[in-house]
Amino acid sequence: MSEEARAREDICRIAKSMFDRGLTCGASGNISQRLSDGSYLVTPTGSLMGFLEPGQISHLDAQMRHLSGDKPTKEIPLHSAFYETRPQTGAVVHLHSTYCVALSMLPDIDPDNVLPPVTPYGIMRLGKVKLLPFFLPGDAGMGEAVRALAGTRSAVLLANHGPVVAGKDIWAAANAIEELEETAKLVVLTRGLQPKMLSEAQVQAVVTRFDVDW
Ligand code: ZN
Repeated sequence: MSEEARAREDICRIAKSMFDRGLTCGASGNISQRLSDGSYLVTPTGSLMGFLEPGQISHLDAQMRHLSGDKPTKEIPLHSAFYETRPQTGAVVHLHSTYCVALSMLPDIDPDNVLPPVTPYGIMRLGKVKLLPFFLPGDAGMGEAVRALAGTRSAVLLANHGPVVAGKDIWAAANAIEELEETAKLVVLTRGLQPKMLSEAQVQAVVTRFDVDW
C-alpha cells in the first residue's frame, strides 16, 4: 500500500475511533497529516469524523492549496501554523472534546500551563499546554496565536472551543490529544474535592526522566 493510501486509511480509522467514543461530536473536529513529499491530507469541511471515506480526504500541496478530494476544513490556518513553526510536526489533530472545553472555561486555571499536575502522562505527552483566547470559528487569528508561540508548544487549548495538538506522526498526535482530554476530565471531575496533585519535585522528576521540553 502506498504511503498516501495508508495515511488516508489511518486518518479515517482514527477519526472514527474518536467519534465513536464521543471525543468530538457532529461535524466537529479535524485532522491533517504531512506526507513525505511535503503535501498534506486534511479532513474535509463539514464532514463527520465517524463517517469519513479515504477517497474524500482533501489533498493539499505544500503551500496548502487544494489539489483533490472534498473541500478542506476551514480550520486550515490552525494546522498550518503548527507545521510552519514546528518542523518536526507530521500531523495535527483538533477536537471539540467536552472536558477540554470545560477546563478552558474555568476561572482559576493558569493560561500558560492549563493542566494541573494530575498524572505523569499529561506532562510526558504534552509538556505545558497553553490556553489561547476565544476566536470566532474560522478566524485567522487562531493561526496567528499559534504562530506567536514560535513552535514552543505542541498543544494548545482554544478557550470555549477545544484542543489542538501536533505530533511527529498521526498516532503520536492522536495519543497526545486523548491524554489531554483524559487529564482535563480528571481535573474537572476532581475539582472542589481537594485533589492531591503531583508535587513540584515529582513534576521535575518526570520532566528530567522523560526529557520533557518544559
Ligand atoms: Zn474547531
